[in-house]
Amino acid sequence: MTRTARLLIVGPQGSGKGTQGARIAQALGIPTVSTGDVFRANIAAGTPLGEQVKAITAAGNLVSDELTGQIVRDRLSQDDAAAGFLLDGYPRNLRQVQDLDGFLAERDAHLDAVIELSVPRAESIERLALRAKEQGRTDDTDEIIAKRLAIYESETAPILDVYRERGTVDTIDGVGTLDEITERIVAALTARGITRPAAV
Ligand code: ADP
Repeated sequence: MTRTARLLIVGPQGSGKGTQGARIAQALGIPTVSTGDVFRANIAAGTPLGEQVKAITAAGNLVSDELTGQIVRDRLSQDDAAAGFLLDGYPRNLRQVQDLDGFLAERDAHLDAVIELSVPRAESIERLALRAKEQGRTDDTDEIIAKRLAIYESETAPILDVYRERGTVDTIDGVGTLDEITERIVAALTARGITRPAAV
């Protein structure tokens, strides 16, 4: 039996999912696939993809499902993602869940666990304001943060209901020290029998 670790981390902006996702991926020896990071790297490097998504991401809107899906499929098709990966920022709406389901089904695969990082709204907003000061992300202004949170509530939160029905969601309290939160996630994954995947 091949052990796999195909994971998704979901949480509102400012929930710390990027930080925790990177820690979990590192602990399990699997690659992180963050659509936000891919877009930011391409914008910074001035690639054609970056030019295409610059204005959309800066306004807090979502990039098209087609384009985002293509990027994720390409990345997940690489060898290092064969037995495990941690998705951060994708899927972000119900259509993207369908697209990912299709891609995984073609490979006889499915997500092994969905980590929901739960953080009170006031705390997320506070963290985002701090990040805006520290990192100067162009999409971290008050107005655009509000828009991204609204899109999260209306489009992204519903994907959790789908995964909840499948019994794959672990809801993790996202308030605490970084180490405490990482330990909670690792404990939940361990309880599901998810550990470092065997090399394929
Ligand atoms: P956030 O802190 O808003 O979760 P991310 O780093 O995940 O930020 O994403 C930054 C931006 O990249 C999003 O606001 C959106 O414009 C775009 N983006 C990221 N992931 C997706 C996706 N799955 N579908 C569409 N657009 C996306």
